[in-house]
Amino acid sequence: MNPNEAELHYPLGDAVPAPGSAIDVAPGVRWLRMGLPFALDHINLWLLRDVHEGIEGWTIVDCGIANDATRAAWEQVFSTRLDGLPVLRLIVTHMHPDHIGLAHWLTERWQCRLWISATDFNAARLASQSTTGFGGERSALFFASHGLTDPDAIAKVRGRSNYYASMVPSVPECYRRLMDGMTLDIGGHAWRCIAGYGHAPEHIALHAPALDVLIAGDMLLPRISTNVSVHDLEPESDPLTQFLTSIKRFDALPATTLVLPSHGKPFTGLHARTRQLHEHHAERLAEVMAACAVRPCHAADLLPVLFKRKLDLHQTTFAMGESIAHLHALWHAGKLLRRAGDDGVWRFAAA
Ligand SMILES: [Zn+2]
Repeated sequence: MNPNEAELHYPLGDAVPAPGSAIDVAPGVRWLRMGLPFALDHINLWLLRDVHEGIEGWTIVDCGIANDATRAAWEQVFSTRLDGLPVLRLIVTHMHPDHIGLAHWLTERWQCRLWISATDFNAARLASQSTTGFGGERSALFFASHGLTDPDAIAKVRGRSNYYASMVPSVPECYRRLMDGMTLDIGGHAWRCIAGYGHAPEHIALHAPALDVLIAGDMLLPRISTNVSVHDLEPESDPLTQFLTSIKRFDALPATTLVLPSHGKPFTGLHARTRQLHEHHAERLAEVMAACAVRPCHAADLLPVLFKRKLDLHQTTFAMGESIAHLHALWHAGKLLRRAGDDGVWRFAAA
């Protein structure tokens, strides 16, 4: 356990549900876990006991990626963990493949509606149908313009044009829109939508005050800091400031809130966790500022400053997005200025 984690509390202990099984974490709230083929090897999903339009059943929150193992685990859940009741609706917190991958299959399987923010619905539809603009050539050019020169890394990014669609082959054709501040009645409990930015286009977390539960999605994770990256689709964006501003909203929730994260174990201590994340990024920003005060730096220059360990190619692409995010936070705040050199690479210097 790292020192940050020692400030959190895991009220359910070390138990985690095996794929296809479930653990009850609050009245009418069931925790599921599915595998992922990454270094981050699992995602948590949730079942909420519901009565919708007069019918008793379940609402699913998040899906897992589209592969046979995840579909098989879902079938096992359907036959053993739904108390013989149907799935009535599907809520998806955001557009990333591990969250929306099986939405098309689940909504067809149960003839139910997908509920998601409009921004993420449209981004997911576009990404699953597009062979340009998500990964591929445009992404390779973008990273090169921020100083990535390793030909193997550039080739890997260029070749990844089908990355999203391989995990999200299709997205439902229609949806019901979730917006910040909306309250959903799920099984007689009010669940309020809390929008968050910086990790996904418009992430929706769900808070049930009467249950003292927050479904945090990827906005608040106990062990790892949420990925916050600049992408080629929005090349001047400032996702780190958006993220840090967004998580302040969780500080208004009670200290006793049980946080249900998409990765890791359910925890309490959300105020400590938001403080840790602010401190973590403040330290990284200070390091970036110090490096840029010595000489103008591009995002690739800062990888050893920010990450302090050898990165493989896959990690390098994530790390580049995060490095640009830290530079952009300081640039948008007026602390750094940027200039493109004769080589077309953006370098940032103290203002
Ligand atoms: Zn995510």
